[in-house]
Amino acid sequence: MDNNDSLTVTPEKIKDLLLSFLVKPNKMKESGKNPAESRNTESDSDSLGTTKSCISNTLRSHASFIERLESFSALTWFGKPLDLSPLVCARYGWENVDTDMLRCVGCKTFLSGQLPNKSDYLAFQESYNRLKKSLISAHDKFCIVAANPCPEHFCHVPVEDPTLLMVGFTERVKALMVVQDKLPCIALSKLQSLGYDEGQAGAYCKRNLLPDYDSTAQVVTLAFAGWTCCLSKKDVLQCCMCLRQIGIWNYLPMSHCSYSSEHVTEHEDQEGEPTVKKRKIAKAFDPIEEHNHWCPWIQPSSLPVLAMATNESGQTNPHSYLAWIAAIKVIAPGLMDKNAGLACSMKTSPMVEGLRCFRKVIKSWSSKKSGHQPFLQSTEQL
Ligand SMILES: [Zn+2]
Ligand SMILES: [Zn+2]
Repeated sequence: MDNNDSLTVTPEKIKDLLLSFLVKPNKMKESGKNPAESRNTESDSDSLGTTKSCISNTLRSHASFIERLESFSALTWFGKPLDLSPLVCARYGWENVDTDMLRCVGCKTFLSGQLPNKSDYLAFQESYNRLKKSLISAHDKFCIVAANPCPEHFCHVPVEDPTLLMVGFTERVKALMVVQDKLPCIALSKLQSLGYDEGQAGAYCKRNLLPDYDSTAQVVTLAFAGWTCCLSKKDVLQCCMCLRQIGIWNYLPMSHCSYSSEHVTEHEDQEGEPTVKKRKIAKAFDPIEEHNHWCPWIQPSSLPVLAMATNESGQTNPHSYLAWIAAIKVIAPGLMDKNAGLACSMKTSPMVEGLRCFRKVIKSWSSKKSGHQPFLQSTEQL
């Protein structure tokens, strides 16, 4: 994708993005429940093409992809290399129906995912390569998913698209704010060792990203690290990409760790140290460690050229970052650079213009009367 193109933010683009990502799973189920099963009963040849294309679109939708992803668990799909991760399988239409067993939601073909022990290197490699190919080739000849897998970007953090990153970040902050007084103690040592400062991140978000949101620094940290609050269970945190769920009750509550839960101010001091000490004697929530090992947030991801230029003070950096860091570098230029040129980069970054536009749209929406789905309702008014 052309970088300049992706950085041009218009209300139309935001509207398109929101509509494409806010497909309600229920709606999908109502209109497309077991779409493949209706395939054989379709007798009207005129509408067959249209029906097939609808089914294909339904199975390729993000909601359908998420449904398949949810069928995988660490008990029934484990010990697989990254390119056989649940994300990759779900992208090619497979759901996990039993231990090491996949089934295509389109053609209903079964595929065994069993791999030999890694100690037998050659046998493992052979089976592994065969299984990788089978994800694409094992489908029925007429399977609609085989010809149209889900878009590749379902499996990656969209670091090349600041608007999409910002939409996701805003959604996560909004969801987490509902439970911000119940959040667990957050283990910050790993984040800090990678250059993240929670106090600064909270202040940065308040000042530059979401000034109208009264979110705590903890909310900002969790949202940056890919976590949101589970819609159906308010005491469960969930990763928006690997879908890992974490019960808040398993961790030391914020009120019990010597850690400020007060709202972020611009003059907040560093406050990570007490948490680090506390972590040794009680369980704090580590927002990086708790992802599934295949989660896109913790995979290396290259920064888009423009973000590199604005972040590295003009020097391009060929290194890749963990995706959550790359995402911060894109939507919050300067934040991960130990303050070097922070103010400067905020003034000069072309992405800041995009974010300003985004904020304007969000502000205009949130000022209108809205219910549980302000985005969905408001897009109709645009
Ligand atoms: Zn299939
Ligand atoms: Zn994750």
